[in-house]
Amino acid sequence: MKVCVIGGAGYIGSHAVLELVQDGHEVVVIDNLSTGIREAVDENARFYWGDITDESGLDEIFKKETDTHPFDAVMHFAAKIVVFESVSQPLEYYHNNVEGVRIMLKTMVRHGVKNVIFSSTAAVYGDVKKDICTEEDECIPINPYGETKLASERMIRWVTQAYEMNYCIFRYFNVAGAHESLKIGLKRDNLTHIIPITVQTALKLRESMTIFGDDYPTEDGTCIRDYIHVADLAWAHVLGMKYIVSQQKSATINLGSSAGFSVKEVIDEVSRHLPVRYSIGPRRPGDPAKLIASSTKARELLGWVPKRTLKDIIRTDLEFRKKHETR
Ligand code: UDP
Repeated sequence: MKVCVIGGAGYIGSHAVLELVQDGHEVVVIDNLSTGIREAVDENARFYWGDITDESGLDEIFKKETDTHPFDAVMHFAAKIVVFESVSQPLEYYHNNVEGVRIMLKTMVRHGVKNVIFSSTAAVYGDVKKDICTEEDECIPINPYGETKLASERMIRWVTQAYEMNYCIFRYFNVAGAHESLKIGLKRDNLTHIIPITVQTALKLRESMTIFGDDYPTEDGTCIRDYIHVADLAWAHVLGMKYIVSQQKSATINLGSSAGFSVKEVIDEVSRHLPVRYSIGPRRPGDPAKLIASSTKARELLGWVPKRTLKDIIRTDLEFRKKHETR
């Protein structure tokens, strides 16, 4: 298939591009390189600099590409994703994450592209009261990031219904780890996510780290999340694309492992490799206590099960950072 990957130079996008290329697809990447890295894009993909919020720019690229052979699908990864930043910069999040999706869909409609694969998030569920989230659960986001993703999900459903298109919306839980080749991984300034921060602390790239709250209603008092390896997640996108194109159906699917680990357990696992200095601080705004995915639907619809565990996630992130950040 011919696939347009918007945000394909970013952490997750570049892994999806690699999986698509390895699965034999023709891949076109559009990225504004705001957080993405040009060198992370596999050399077999065609690259365009472009911004999802720039309607005429996006249209130009689609015109050029679809003149020869139309896209079978568009994959969207071009989002701002830092929860606490979204609390202080909601306007930027709505502009990039919602207006960007509207422009992407409009461009798809104009050029007759019928299938969209969209990166959403567990943050759409909000402060979950159950042990495990299923896709049918009520969505009540508690931060602007989750709100923007839920708004985009709803827009995608209305637009695909109106124009007879198909969608596959993936709700990611906590994505981490690096590709086994160690060529691509999560590399950017001012990282905020727990696994890279813990690994950087272990590698002495940071003096110490803070656990944001140990008074949550969980066993050890720290927040629980469902961690998934980025290569497993990327592969799900290829399966999702094949599913909606071949079945002409749409779906909203969690991508997680059905297992949760606390912040303390993450630190313990990294500490098996190297010691980690940490202190306990106050809660971070916008953090729900516990988010774990039910992954039944991904298994039943796509035959997808994560192959890698928290140990693999931490080992690959550690090796990646050793290679790219300690020299
Ligand atoms: N966290 C922490 N210290 C850090 C970074 C994160 O204690 O330096 C906690 C955070 O409060 C949350 C969990 O780790 O409970 C996962 O946060 P992350 O930012 O990795 O992902 P999120 O679930 O917010 O998308």
